[in-house]
Amino acid sequence: MITKLTTVLAGTLELDGGAMFGVVPQSVWRRVYPPEEGSNRCTWAMRCLLIETDDGRKILVDTGIGEKGDARFRKHFNPSIPQELVSGLAAVMTWPEEITDVLFTHLHFDHVGGASYLDETGKAQLTFPNATHWVCGKHWSWANKPNAREAASFLPANLNPLEQSGKLRFLPDQDSDFDWVSGIRLRTVYGHTEAMQLPLIDLPDGRKLVYCADLIPSAAHLSLPWVMAFDVRPLHTLAEKERLIEHALAGDWTLLLEHDARVAGGKLIKDERGRLSLDGTFGTFSYDHLTGH
Ligand SMILES: [Zn+2]
Repeated sequence: MITKLTTVLAGTLELDGGAMFGVVPQSVWRRVYPPEEGSNRCTWAMRCLLIETDDGRKILVDTGIGEKGDARFRKHFNPSIPQELVSGLAAVMTWPEEITDVLFTHLHFDHVGGASYLDETGKAQLTFPNATHWVCGKHWSWANKPNAREAASFLPANLNPLEQSGKLRFLPDQDSDFDWVSGIRLRTVYGHTEAMQLPLIDLPDGRKLVYCADLIPSAAHLSLPWVMAFDVRPLHTLAEKERLIEHALAGDWTLLLEHDARVAGGKLIKDERGRLSLDGTFGTFSYDHLTGH
């Protein structure tokens, strides 16, 4: 059973708005999700999730971009340095050694980079040294033999330390949602990349949440045709978004957004004209079974 759940911001990065909004013209997306002044790049959050369970697990979902990138990488993505993941966890009284599990939705650098860091000798170390690190096995194989479009997103500097740690475990990919730990099911989707996995979360108070990862990275992406140009199978993304939206509306789900710099999520609603939006948006989400909040 889940006893606590908190969103933790790892930091921000900048990505080209055109790449993030695919076929949507710039004149349209820049009104909805404004870029930085004099630039086509928008600022995106990297929002992770800390989930605690009654059997003592402290599960971290995704880890942000980390700090291993060199000057060229930093110029390109302008990640906030220092990243805030470890300090954000400390703010909720959780130390890196206490994390028992890290779940990667997928292995693009802005989701996996924070799982390792370079020590003073330049050697990569795990940020969460005692954690078992989980990723879909099918996705791991895909990431380690990347196609030319995704090769710049799957960095050996992020994957090698995990492989060498002996703390990597693989999850199955199943057509239907499957139970992972008590209160968390996983849904496997194939549009953004091969076999990305989204946690579907049942809180003990009856609320349901979905951590949307890169299927719906921001509130702007609720609109069906707003699909990232990065996606390897955009028509799959469309169908997967439609299905998630249908389930979220029917089940009164709260959406948690990994990349939206302005809102962390909200309850999905649809108006009489069929337009989707988030109701009761929040900047952070936290749940504590003891206090009921
Ligand atoms: Zn991604």
